[in-house]
Amino acid sequence: MKAPLITLNDGHHLPAVGLGTYQIRGGEGLDQVLTAIQDGYRLLDTSTNYDSEGIVGEAIRRSGIPRSEFFVTTKLPGKYHHYEDALMMIQESLFRMGLEYFDLYLIHWPLPKRKLYVEAWQALVTAKKLGLIRSIGVSNFEPEHLDKIIEATGVTPAVNQIELHPYWVQERMVKANQERGIISEAWSPLGRGSDALKESVITELAEKYGKNPAQIILRWHVQRGVVPIPKSRNLQHQRENLAIFDFELSQTEIERINLLEKADGRIEGQDPNEY
Ligand code: NAD
Repeated sequence: MKAPLITLNDGHHLPAVGLGTYQIRGGEGLDQVLTAIQDGYRLLDTSTNYDSEGIVGEAIRRSGIPRSEFFVTTKLPGKYHHYEDALMMIQESLFRMGLEYFDLYLIHWPLPKRKLYVEAWQALVTAKKLGLIRSIGVSNFEPEHLDKIIEATGVTPAVNQIELHPYWVQERMVKANQERGIISEAWSPLGRGSDALKESVITELAEKYGKNPAQIILRWHVQRGVVPIPKSRNLQHQRENLAIFDFELSQTEIERINLLEKADGRIEGQDPNEY
């Protein structure tokens, strides 16, 4: 099964569900990415910080599927926000993955206290012009960070990848992205395997639709216009996480899931403004 495509503000197409690769590493990790690809995943999300860029690149080559079918995303680590460092790092990641371009490259965190994210964004704009990247975006950016980079360059990110799950619904950020024409991607869309999967509203809807709890949460993301990138090493879970396009939650059901939000439902309490 393959995910449908979403059109980004720069005209490129993003699959509506992807595979996260945080903690998928080494030889076993390579096999796990390969099974996901064979099962239909084309959006693959990695990061220099995850130590999985190499295996993602290798899995793409071993799959035998043309490079053009994939949507490969990776991210710039915080210590490379200076313009020249960022440009060097983008090329280093390309060499590591054995690729000639990225479909999407994100600034991993804004780190506003370091005051360098505008410089990093200028490097991404240059890398796009050089053809090293097709779409450029950000991660963990708050509205004021978005506005600063847009104002400085005139270039709006295609994607903002943020923490989103039933305990951290962030209606405010999803709306802020939408208003700027930016697609929200959800990191830790299942709450990193938290109790969200066991919440009664989730299990009740799972029973109603003949789906499992993870599929209900992923469908909730999709209907909010959000692209989830669940991580799974397990073939059955990988398969289930793609099989969410044959049913629809009602607006009331979406709102019931929204009510699961907690005052600070962040998994690790990481506030993008605090670093
Ligand atoms: P997740 O919400 O994807 O949850 C992963 C957990 O859910 C794993 O334990 C997995 O075994 C379990 N799971 C997956 N499918 C399931 C299913 N069908 N049924 C039951 N359990 C299932 O958490 P994550 O890995 O933290 O987030 C996903 C991806 O987001 C990461 O791999 C990474 O690519 C990205 N990420 C980005 C940032 C960022 O700052 N941009 C931060 C964290 C993660």
